[in-house]
Amino acid sequence: MQNLLLNLNPEQLAAVTLPAQPALILAGAGSGKTRVLITRIAWLIQTGQVSPSGVLAVTFTNKAAKEMMMRLSAMLPINTRGMWIGTFHGLCNRLLRAHHKDAGLTATFQILDSQDQLSAIKRLLKSLNIDDEKYPPRNLMYFINGAKDQGLRAHQVDVSDDYNRKFVELYALYDQQCQREGVVDFAELLLRTYELLARNQPLREHYQARFKHILVDEFQDTNDLQYKWLKLMAGQGGTVFAVGDDDQSIYAFRGANVGNMSTFEREFKVENLIKLEQNYRSHGHILDSANTLIANNSKRLGKNLRTDAGHGEPVRIYESTSDLLEAQWIIEEAKSLINEGATRSEIAILYRSNAQSRVIEHALFSAGIPYRVYGGQRYFERAEVKHAIAYLQLMDNPHNDSAFLRVVNFPTRGIGARSLEHLQDAARQQGISLYAAVPYVAGKAGASLGAFLKLIEGTRFEAQHLPLPEMIQIMLDMSGLITHYRSEREGADRIENLEQLVNAATLFVAEEGFGHNAPALSGPQADVLAAASITTADGIEIIDADARLSFIMSPLSAFLSHASLEAGDNQAKTGQDALQLMTVHSSKGLEFEAVFITGLEEGLFPHENSQKEESGVEEERRLMYVAITRAKKRLYMSFSQTRMLHGQTRYNLRSRFFDELPEQALKWLSPKIQAPQHSWFAHPKAAWVDEPQFGANTIANKFTKLDLGWRIGENVAHLKFGEGVIVNIEGSGDSARAQINFGKHGMKLLDLTVAKLEKV
Ligand code: ATP
Ligand code: MG
Repeated sequence: MQNLLLNLNPEQLAAVTLPAQPALILAGAGSGKTRVLITRIAWLIQTGQVSPSGVLAVTFTNKAAKEMMMRLSAMLPINTRGMWIGTFHGLCNRLLRAHHKDAGLTATFQILDSQDQLSAIKRLLKSLNIDDEKYPPRNLMYFINGAKDQGLRAHQVDVSDDYNRKFVELYALYDQQCQREGVVDFAELLLRTYELLARNQPLREHYQARFKHILVDEFQDTNDLQYKWLKLMAGQGGTVFAVGDDDQSIYAFRGANVGNMSTFEREFKVENLIKLEQNYRSHGHILDSANTLIANNSKRLGKNLRTDAGHGEPVRIYESTSDLLEAQWIIEEAKSLINEGATRSEIAILYRSNAQSRVIEHALFSAGIPYRVYGGQRYFERAEVKHAIAYLQLMDNPHNDSAFLRVVNFPTRGIGARSLEHLQDAARQQGISLYAAVPYVAGKAGASLGAFLKLIEGTRFEAQHLPLPEMIQIMLDMSGLITHYRSEREGADRIENLEQLVNAATLFVAEEGFGHNAPALSGPQADVLAAASITTADGIEIIDADARLSFIMSPLSAFLSHASLEAGDNQAKTGQDALQLMTVHSSKGLEFEAVFITGLEEGLFPHENSQKEESGVEEERRLMYVAITRAKKRLYMSFSQTRMLHGQTRYNLRSRFFDELPEQALKWLSPKIQAPQHSWFAHPKAAWVDEPQFGANTIANKFTKLDLGWRIGENVAHLKFGEGVIVNIEGSGDSARAQINFGKHGMKLLDLTVAKLEKV
């Protein structure tokens, strides 16, 4: 058996082996938070404190969840399938699918990504004849999502003026429209699950009993509803293990609330607050830059980072006269890194706004350097892929009006705007979906719509017993999409993308473990079925989501949720040997050998929208902190005097952040011109020191069950130190001693023959 605890520093070790109580690991970038979280899961399982199906781990992106699964499989010879590791959205989707009836949804409900949501809102406004200049769809979308993120339904939103009252009214109508069409948006996934669990006591108690350990990464970026959700899931005495960094809270604009960290500490009565201060990622000059910069923020929980890695290379800073020349410089530097042996995927180019990538992309393209852009248009968001997905959605749930409208006349089949108007009127009158309303439309329009209906039904019939990839192939052929793009001048790429869908489905089916025809019990979680059905004291039978899903989730439904959730993922993928381009937001949690932070200009980074308020600049500074701490060995920063953005040339001052970096860590590649000093909020640095109590190297590499009857991983109670968990046992007989983690009392080495320990 592997000793998972080797290679951890004392604070990390303490965190990994904490007793089963609420815990908060507060630590800076690159200090091993994610590593601690993963190791803790492995350790809990290895020492028998929890079975894989008792673990619920929340990550920030789907990619992070996959990585976590992979690292766990490498650490432990277990089947990770019973484990629930995913994003809030992914986990909620799973629960709602399993308990769709209780949640008031159809089995085939579909997920709207933000693009779909916006078009659904536009459609709503249009059907109500509402002036979209007065009530811009995008604002309505922010309003709705903002309310949902706080856990509020329309009738619970407090408004004081008529304008907002209208928004509330539209929010309610929007929800009705979604319900009718069998679709849910991202925020709804969470709110629905929350309401389901809040309302349904047996179900709630079942999951509370099942998930003995809940672990959350990137806790600083949870929003109010996510926090409430966690609280509900954990129940009384639930063990939530949260790791986060207040200095990396960068999603306030999406409702994230860094205050959740202190709320959590208070409400869960966290006694185990552990700080990690050793950074394993970055060389000294890079880390000094991050520390010095972030010390300018006022609202901090207080911590610092140190490294043993030595100063390393200085941070290189380049001033350019234009954005084109800035891009040239980046490429020259990247080329020399590659010549020195760096792999392309270990080099990241970061920017504050998506629009900045175009110039860099162009330069990379001209130089023939492979690159990948993340956060731009992703695969599942491309028009042709969305069309194909819409056909699949209709096969799965014909009442999805968004999907219907997207493809009813694509490829063109003579169904014009007038026909659709008739159809929409009929649907409105009857209160039914467009699909269901087709028989109500008469004449020629009715005939063409009827033909479309037949097409969908026919495709469904042909595909019904086939494995998912073949199902998709049939849809591609029968829908006419392939034929359509074949006649388009630049259609070859699009056809290739469509065919990729078949490959994506093949991979998906293999990864998710769906049997070919997805018969009931060969589904993804059949192996945990035995433990999944319980009867409560009141005689109510609860069938756990894992068991339900293996019965009811068709591979098609599963694949469609996957596509929607992937489209909503904000995260980059690494691994392919191409230069990595992404926004700073997307770079969270990742690390690279070399990082370029570009466009460091006033108005761009910090962003002009942030400058009205102090808190805005502080959030930008945290964003800069995230950017700097992605770099392991080399860090480059650049800015340009002029830049073309949104069709205009802008003349820029260099970012104030340059004046907040330690001069000795920097190397100016172009002569530094003294800029006017910005006087931003100066604050004393908060220092934090803790005594390491325990060295990782004292741990013996063995996991044995001793004759004394004590077991590693066992929970014990001590008269003075309270509850703890056995981390290691040394020696035997009279000289047996145990290392026990007593949480807030720290790690103790106790003589087992003397210490008065009780089993808990
Ligand atoms: P972020 O805040 O950016 O998410 P993090 O705190 O989650 O960072 P990790 O990504 O877990 O940090 O770790 C950063 C790097 O340091 C990783 O490459 C990890 O493998 C390495 N690392 C962490 N702890 C140790 C250790 N004790 N010994 C050696 N390497 C370590
Ligand atoms: Mg991390």
